[in-house]
Amino acid sequence: MYKATIGIEVHSQIKTRSKMFCGCKVEFLSAPNTNICSICMGEPGVLPYTNEKAILLAIRAALALNAQINKKSVFARKNYYYPDLTKGYQITQSVPLAENGYVVINTENGEKKITIHRIHIEEDTGKLFHTNDKVSMIDFNRSGVPLLEIVTDPVIENEKEAISYLKRLRQIIRYIDISGADMEKGQFRCEPNISVSKDNRRGIKTEVKNLNSLKAVEKAIKYEIERQITILEKGGKIIQQTMLWDEKEQVTKTMRSKEGIAEYRYFKEPDLIPLIITNEMINEQKELIPELPQSKFNRLVKEYNIGINEAEILIDNPRLSNYFEKSIEKGCGIKESLGWITTDIMGILNKSEKKFSYLKITPQHLADLYKYIENKIINMNIAKNILHEIAFTGEPVDKYIKSKNLIQITDTKSIEKIIDEILEENPTEVKRYLKGNNKLFGFFVGQAMKKMGGKANPTIVNKLLKDILNRR
Ligand code: ZN
Ligand code: MN
Repeated sequence: MYKATIGIEVHSQIKTRSKMFCGCKVEFLSAPNTNICSICMGEPGVLPYTNEKAILLAIRAALALNAQINKKSVFARKNYYYPDLTKGYQITQSVPLAENGYVVINTENGEKKITIHRIHIEEDTGKLFHTNDKVSMIDFNRSGVPLLEIVTDPVIENEKEAISYLKRLRQIIRYIDISGADMEKGQFRCEPNISVSKDNRRGIKTEVKNLNSLKAVEKAIKYEIERQITILEKGGKIIQQTMLWDEKEQVTKTMRSKEGIAEYRYFKEPDLIPLIITNEMINEQKELIPELPQSKFNRLVKEYNIGINEAEILIDNPRLSNYFEKSIEKGCGIKESLGWITTDIMGILNKSEKKFSYLKITPQHLADLYKYIENKIINMNIAKNILHEIAFTGEPVDKYIKSKNLIQITDTKSIEKIIDEILEENPTEVKRYLKGNNKLFGFFVGQAMKKMGGKANPTIVNKLLKDILNRR
């Protein structure tokens, strides 16, 4: 039985207005090569300086990832020649900002700690565009943008755990507001390294790059594990190499093999003094960390007794879980709020492709709807319809119910009258029902509800229908 061992490196863009070592603007959609200067272009004689905001945000991340912060860390040059790096070296850290952190994930066997080896600050490179007509273009706007590199220990065992870790990490980064962590914008880039082995020694690992979505990460890891096992089973050897994920063919391909792996000749960056972190900086950032995803997850499950899948949906966006809790505070039922949020509201937003911030339904709306249901003034289906109708208008619930005349029909006389009518209109179905086709009961309920514009109290309809049919 082969066992896979996976480690993951993540590069997350740090949300700052200017670059890491110069004053150039950080902007995703600027015209190419407009946010550049002599520092980030590496012209001779220029001196870099550090971006304080980026350092503070990196400290916040290190704390949220339970890591130990090095009071003194050191910037270093990682030397290599590549067209996306005009200086010929990348400024990174040889002594990292922080070490020994962890992220807690939920697995089938309960909680698991994914330990983090190191967290450091570095600068991004420019971006290459390879066109079809043998021309490559480069945009240096991204060159020098601050990045946080987060490296796990090789403790991940399969693609599922890898995805849970990446999701949780991305949630933490968003909760503490240090990055948009949008994979499509390249703000959150994942590079897993994978090896397989039959015993406790770690096998030879390969690294996969060019993964633009979590789906791609999942598929690439799975593919790599299977590819390596197949080679070993045939008596072959794994070559240590960097692979690229080919999204079109859904396979990993060799990018460069061991012979080609660069010797980076790291050395201390002579233009920057060591980075000294004070207790004051640490305490200031500690204050800014909100309740984090895993504690929120555990608290929601315990406090409201909700399922783990629903809790995962709620915590994925802190605004969603706050919204849920606010609605309960305002008096909405837990089950109702959960259902409305995770199916109706999420459905409305997905269908309209709108962000949560466009939603005009407030927690108060949910509490009001709940009150109307509890008082048997409307039924659940009407409540769901109302959510769809007021989603982007935010009309108050009572006003809407009155203006549309949606008050539930509970008057047994008029419901009985409607039931008589529909039984009259469907004599064949009635005969079949009386001969034992019980499934038709639902059909009669549906017909009666339809005739009353969906406004009848379904419990009363069910009861009366049963009584009337029994009498026949
Ligand atoms: Zn610059
Ligand atoms: Mn890096």
